[in-house]
Amino acid sequence: MLGAASAGFGFVPRRALAAGTADVLPPVPQLTHQHDIIAVNSVTIDRPLVALTFDDGPHPEHTPRLLDILKDRKVTATFYLIGRSVRAFPDVARRIAAEGHEIGNHTWSHPELWNLGDYDVLREIDRTNEIIWRTVGLLPVTMRPPYGAITRYQSRMLHDSRLLPTVMWSVDPSDYRRPGPDVVASRIVTKASNGAIVLAHDIHGPTVTAMPATIDGLRERGFGFASMSSLLGWEKWGRVQMAAVEEPEWPDDDD
Ligand SMILES: [Zn+2]
Repeated sequence: MLGAASAGFGFVPRRALAAGTADVLPPVPQLTHQHDIIAVNSVTIDRPLVALTFDDGPHPEHTPRLLDILKDRKVTATFYLIGRSVRAFPDVARRIAAEGHEIGNHTWSHPELWNLGDYDVLREIDRTNEIIWRTVGLLPVTMRPPYGAITRYQSRMLHDSRLLPTVMWSVDPSDYRRPGPDVVASRIVTKASNGAIVLAHDIHGPTVTAMPATIDGLRERGFGFASMSSLLGWEKWGRVQMAAVEEPEWPDDDD
């Protein structure tokens, strides 16, 4: 059973940070949910629901255009954001969250994780969680490895140490090869099935252009749209799955 511990949410005010640290911000909280999922390609459900997921944003032009389309058609999606792009385009990241979409962790610099050691993998994930937290005030509850390049061991490590299941996909229109909007839309619509996770990229203009026909085509086939959390049967993405970290024992800095 996928339960979520409902921990209280709040902050312990932090004492003054070291000189030279400009921002005095609450510490990055920790996830408190416990899920037995380590990695998924799709979700076994008998309801006609799919998750649209968009990787590699936020993009300053294409992502807002996509958000307009999703709002117009009342579709909730999940965005796997790159940390350094969140830093570059924070307003777009904030808009994604403000409009009810879910944000997942797609690493800081988009490397092939399976080439990296544990320290570097965790740093890619932690930096990204931190910038998302500082930008939108929410933490990702799943991660997606760039190129799908992650080892079973690494997925287990991220699950065990960061409570982040790995979300792969079951429908890939290969939109990054730029086959054109019509092909992208028809590939997604024909390959979709109950519980499918659709991979797309909102850094590509033609992918965004394909979305109205994609959404309409999926609806004609009877599908509805779920965020990753709701497709997995979890609580709605938000703060309920987080708890403030313990205040660390800071060295006495009064002198
Ligand atoms: Zn990517």
